[in-house]
Amino acid sequence: MVNKIKIDEDIYIGGDEFTIIAGPCSVENLEQVEEIGSFLNRLGVKFLRGGAFKPRTDPKSFQGLGLDGLKILKKIKDKYGFKIISEIMDPRDIDEAYNYIDIYQIGSRNMYNYPLLKEVGNMDRPVLLKRGMSATIEEWIKASEYIELGGNHKIIFCERGIRAFDPYTRNVLDLMAVPIIQEKTKYPIIVDPSHGTGRRELVLPATNAAKAIGANGIMIEIHPNPAMALSDGEQSLNFGEFEELLLKIK
Ligand code: PEP
Ligand code: MN
Repeated sequence: MVNKIKIDEDIYIGGDEFTIIAGPCSVENLEQVEEIGSFLNRLGVKFLRGGAFKPRTDPKSFQGLGLDGLKILKKIKDKYGFKIISEIMDPRDIDEAYNYIDIYQIGSRNMYNYPLLKEVGNMDRPVLLKRGMSATIEEWIKASEYIELGGNHKIIFCERGIRAFDPYTRNVLDLMAVPIIQEKTKYPIIVDPSHGTGRRELVLPATNAAKAIGANGIMIEIHPNPAMALSDGEQSLNFGEFEELLLKIK
């Protein structure tokens, strides 16, 4: 069990690393991503997340910029040297997205999308596999085996919370998944405290807990002005809050 994935020369997720991934829920425009990119670059964060294809519950809400969003991410990647993480929902977008993203995210709603899992399994790029919101750990591991079918063994698990009865938090962050995945698979696991809690004020305590239990990293939603965010503003940290979080977990 190595629990370590090579992303690029000298860049790994897993092993002794505690990887910080941050960025907006949705890519909204170039200015927004530039502002976030220059901020993260100043803090030394190397992984930028941002949704271009957004899986929204309400079809009338903002669906993401699609390919234009990926192009914005690439621009900022080229400027600062980030590794880009973005979600793909449709197998038909996989080839085109190859020009823009470094780690393909499979979102919670698509963990059971076996044709999509098989397609990303045919690539040589790493895949961030989020846990289905009602998936057992066993089902989640089986989903990773669909990715392995095509020969892709660059998988990073991401615990993002599961549905339960208490609406106080958006999801219930199942941190026990961390040691279980590390023991049962050869892959690293990161934690998403943003979707895991749905509440900005809980992102820091959830991050502390994820780190304490041995997660290989975290993925956090940030926004220059969360009140104006086109998605997930309630759980997004502003720059000051994110900087403080980084200081506190060091
Ligand atoms: C996301 O990370 O932007 C996202 C949509 O998360 P999830 O699939 O976990 O809901
Ligand atoms: Mn989000």
